[in-house]
Amino acid sequence: MALPPLPPEEALKLEDLLENIDDLVILATPEGKILYVNRAWREKLGYSQDEIHKINAHDVLHPMQHRLVAANEAKLLAGETLRDIQRTFVAKDGREFFVEGFLNYKFKEGKPEYVRAVFRDITERKKAEQMKDELVALATHELRSPLTAIIGSLELAKRHPDSAPKMLEMALRNSQFMLSLINDYLSVEKLSSGGAPLNLQSLELAPLLERALETNRALGAKAGVSFELSGAPAGLKVSADPERLTQVLTNLLSNAVKFSPENGKVTASLSRGGGFVRVAIADRGPGIPEAFRDKIFGRFAQAEGHRKGGSGLGLAISKAIVERHGGKIGFSTSSGAGTTFYFELPEAAD
Ligand code: ADP
Repeated sequence: MALPPLPPEEALKLEDLLENIDDLVILATPEGKILYVNRAWREKLGYSQDEIHKINAHDVLHPMQHRLVAANEAKLLAGETLRDIQRTFVAKDGREFFVEGFLNYKFKEGKPEYVRAVFRDITERKKAEQMKDELVALATHELRSPLTAIIGSLELAKRHPDSAPKMLEMALRNSQFMLSLINDYLSVEKLSSGGAPLNLQSLELAPLLERALETNRALGAKAGVSFELSGAPAGLKVSADPERLTQVLTNLLSNAVKFSPENGKVTASLSRGGGFVRVAIADRGPGIPEAFRDKIFGRFAQAEGHRKGGSGLGLAISKAIVERHGGKIGFSTSSGAGTTFYFELPEAAD
């Protein structure tokens, strides 16, 4: 049974309550015309009171989710309440966040009059869930096999003391691999959550790149791969943490070496444009399989049949470092002809 309408002063109190909660509340027509949104909705999505009349409620939904909304329409029209539904919202400035909540229609004379929805921002919870999944993956897939190998080596060393030096050597190598995996994971986590302060300095890129090539030259030579520097104009400066930037260069160079053919050449270059400085590392390797391209910067990502040791964390760390410097990282690749990884950083004035 419908309640009698509230006296105006009580209705004001209810609106005051809605304005002061942190959940996102919206009333909109089935076509998406916004009838009411509370303060939390306006603030999270970045629209002023005036602007909400110029947008459609569907505009804040991530484009990938429009199909999902259409699929739910039948249930809503049948009078169902959709609970615990998750959506990705896109704020006016493009920032994405995850919400969870409920949605149903208010009907009038059998027709949907408006939709009521209340959502809660669960971005932090999603991040914690993702981290938990990654830690389980780390323990299950990445740490268990070196640990099993260490135990195997130690057992053998105990049973056959004459094999001890060789077995201890293997145990040591596997322990070092485990430690570097854990350190790498913690380092991505810290960098992408804004921890790990950067030691920003005004840096000239050409000498930094030359030093990184020099340091990695022996690694290349061991695999029969040589480095060349094609164009590294002097005077290109960025504001960056030299150690972190060297870490990115070392990751890109060691990947380029790993995937180069025998006697291959890896070419490093430096250029500028549009207020950015670009560093590129090109190899003549097999290229990156198409199905793997959108996953390559993910944590523990390694392409099937393209694993060459390593952990699948190098590019995730590189991306986190470049983004912390306000830059971006990317690649171009062609099957059988090679891959060029590049990163761009804002050019610093002298
Ligand atoms: P790791 O090298 O430790 O496996 P990365 O994050 O550096 O981790 O690389 C992830 C994966 O991306 C590699 O395992 C490989 O499949 C692919 N990859 C990286 N660099 C290249 C490259 N230059 N050419 C082809 N594949 C590459």
